[in-house]
Amino acid sequence: MEDSELTKEQLALYQKQLFDLRQLIEISKGLNTNLELETLIDSILYVCMGQLRVVKVGIFVRRGVGEHDFVLHRNYFGFDLVHDVEYRIPGEHPIISLLEKTSQPLTLEEMGRVISREEMERLPFYSLSIDLVVPLVAKGVLYGILILGDRIDGEPISQYEKRYLMDLAGIASIALHNAFLYEMAVTDFLTHLKLRNYFDSMLADLMLVVEREQTPLSLIMADLDHFKRLNDTYGHLAGDKVLQEIARVIHFHTRKNDIAARYGGEEFAVLLPHTPLEAAVGIADRIRIAVEHLEIPYGGAVMHITISLGVAQYDPRRDATPEDFIERADKALYMAKEKGRNRVCV
Ligand code: GH3
Ligand code: MG
Ligand code: MG
Repeated sequence: MEDSELTKEQLALYQKQLFDLRQLIEISKGLNTNLELETLIDSILYVCMGQLRVVKVGIFVRRGVGEHDFVLHRNYFGFDLVHDVEYRIPGEHPIISLLEKTSQPLTLEEMGRVISREEMERLPFYSLSIDLVVPLVAKGVLYGILILGDRIDGEPISQYEKRYLMDLAGIASIALHNAFLYEMAVTDFLTHLKLRNYFDSMLADLMLVVEREQTPLSLIMADLDHFKRLNDTYGHLAGDKVLQEIARVIHFHTRKNDIAARYGGEEFAVLLPHTPLEAAVGIADRIRIAVEHLEIPYGGAVMHITISLGVAQYDPRRDATPEDFIERADKALYMAKEKGRNRVCV
């Protein structure tokens, strides 16, 4: 055999590498066209399971803009978690800077050489019997921590697979980085609710879906009562604190699929898919009552505020455009103001 000819084994290896590279390109396309964090995380987890043949996989991410800690995303696979325990890594835990710096998959044992036993035991995945911890780092910033355990065939991860895993992690990191940038671009920094632009585009999309699927869609428009007076009494910073508290209440009373936005200065909008009018009124009233009972301390004083809300259900016969739908909810809000504020109207 001449020197330049490949052996069967070499050929098979090159073919496998070519196949893996093609896969990576496809995965890259898939991940990088996905800007929604939720679906992106799902894709990353599925890709890991499929490509690396692991049965346990999960990912820790910062939950949103302004979040400091890493929390295990609820779409994990294979782990036996203790119910009601939150799996959280504080942003200042030494593991965060270690992963950010090394940017390499590490075993628990390798981590244990750098991090004290006490700190290791504080890690929420310490008890989960995992094989590898993979940092997802883009532009020097840690965006996610992938944890992998138990392979289908029980074999340890080979050097070749480790390299493949790092390529995969690189792609996933860039996708996560983009998703976080997108999240920042559509999020209001003061309240962490969505911005109006995002809300408007989601409203237009959802109206189409709802008309096709014939499911109810409701909208709550809300405006704080006499907010100007509160600003005049306590100052603008106090007003900002109130806005943050209101956002917290709205967040607490809505579900994951609802879209809550800061629609204007002290105006809020909540879009409720799969929700008929009566249920939306119930939610609006719970928000109203919670706001009424808020006690917001500020510089020795305690501030109180109330909110007026208008609710409408999407009706394709009446609402030709998103503006028509918003206008009906806005009219209901106006009515709530007219009738004396701190109430819900439809
Ligand atoms: P009404 O019950 O009729 O709604 O009375 P209102 O005083 O709330 O009236 P309006 O809705 O017109 O007032 C809006 C006020 O909200 C004006 C402005 O001072 C305040 N505001 C708007 N955006 C912000 C903000 O980002 N921070 C603070 N602190 N105040 C804001
Ligand atoms: Mg207003
Ligand atoms: Mg107002």
